Amino acid sequence: MNILEADGERLLASVRALLEQKGIISSTEVRERLEATDNASPGQGARMVARAWVDPAYRALMLADGTKAAEALGIPMRGIPPLGVLENTAQVHNLVVCTLCSCYPRAVLGYPPFWYKSASFRARAVRDPRGLLAAEWKTVVPEAVRLVVVDSTADYRWMVLPVRPSGTDGWDEARLAGIVREGDMIGVTVPVV
Ligand code: FE
Repeated sequence: MNILEADGERLLASVRALLEQKGIISSTEVRERLEATDNASPGQGARMVARAWVDPAYRALMLADGTKAAEALGIPMRGIPPLGVLENTAQVHNLVVCTLCSCYPRAVLGYPPFWYKSASFRARAVRDPRGLLAAEWKTVVPEAVRLVVVDSTADYRWMVLPVRPSGTDGWDEARLAGIVREGDMIGVTVPVV
């Protein structure tokens, strides 16, 4: 641990102690939150996507209120920013970025991948999203499809509901969830069979 990290640790400990002293948040709540984040993985978001693909009522709930949709599948959402869900269609492709830092829907996708936090991704996602997706992920979004770049912030987190790929007719939810990757829910890739 270098000197900056040691300072950071001390600052964090002091802030946590103050928050607890003032009754703003308890150490139990902090521990629960840390555990929830550690336990979260893209598999949570994938379960939501798979449910939305097979259940129109759940899909409607998910698009209206991502937080409620996550909670409906038992994913803990207490104390974290609201979750919004962006629907990809044949006409629209959504890409999520945090231009400021690395805001990410951790409750449903786990910790952000390294590239999501990089200055390069954050800048290029805004400047030339189509070029970025083609160059780094071989994801070609046709010119006829509108590419929408959405900023994830400290107040609101976003995930993408990707298009269900063809060739998956009759698949059950577990099998569908198995093909949904984290990048598909950020919009850098699309699910493939
Ligand atoms: Fe951020």
